[in-house]
Amino acid sequence: MAELAIRQIPVLRDNYVYLIRDPDTAATAAVDPAVAGPVFDALKETGWRLTHILNTHHHADHTGGNLELKAATGCTIVGPRADRDRIPGIDIVVGEGDTYGFGRRLARVFDVPGHTRGHIAYWFADTKALFCGDTMFIMGCGRLFEGTPAQMWNSLGKLKALPPETRIYCAHEYTQNNARFALTVEPGNAELRARARRIDDMRANNIPTVPGTLAEELLTNPFLRADHPALQQLAGTVGDPVATFAEIRHRKDIF
Ligand code: ZN
Ligand code: FE
Repeated sequence: MAELAIRQIPVLRDNYVYLIRDPDTAATAAVDPAVAGPVFDALKETGWRLTHILNTHHHADHTGGNLELKAATGCTIVGPRADRDRIPGIDIVVGEGDTYGFGRRLARVFDVPGHTRGHIAYWFADTKALFCGDTMFIMGCGRLFEGTPAQMWNSLGKLKALPPETRIYCAHEYTQNNARFALTVEPGNAELRARARRIDDMRANNIPTVPGTLAEELLTNPFLRADHPALQQLAGTVGDPVATFAEIRHRKDIF
């Protein structure tokens, strides 16, 4: 089956909006449209017609373009069931275990609370693409605004279980800062050091570091690695992945 076409649109300071398109049906979605203008521009450039918006959570830098895009295109807005009252213009609610038919592609939905209580992620198996909003970033994870460390650790566990070749389409370009922080947690991690150097080169040339692969994250993202004895030792929380995750998250909050 043909893969989704994916177009990455940098907006605001460091957000990414994605336009995704099912080539078989021309179904076209904006994932987390923070703003409408750059999405209209991309639609004009590609000649694609917007049929859907997929929202991962309610924050304004993910939903700010919803109403304007809907008014102009009549698109259908899909978002988290638990955030139905906080997603502007929402038409269809989805949650854990649902598969949403987008064109002829199926998006599997995961509940991934932590950053917000209603946060969801969309997984397209055919394309091996994960749209995870502010739950996982390249070498990082979202702040815990509405959730506990235990919830976020559990949410990240669902994403970790996907195939390692999965590409992580997260919603922010936070990678360089995340890499600097990760090096303070695991200064001896050779994969991490090499990746941090590659990231510095990419950013120096203004190249997006997103998407990355899950395989890379498993080796270098400290927030996915709280079950490793070495990290537990560093955090002083041996045998307790949730406490280790909480300690790493706390350190990042004050980094
Ligand atoms: Zn957010
Ligand atoms: Fe955000």
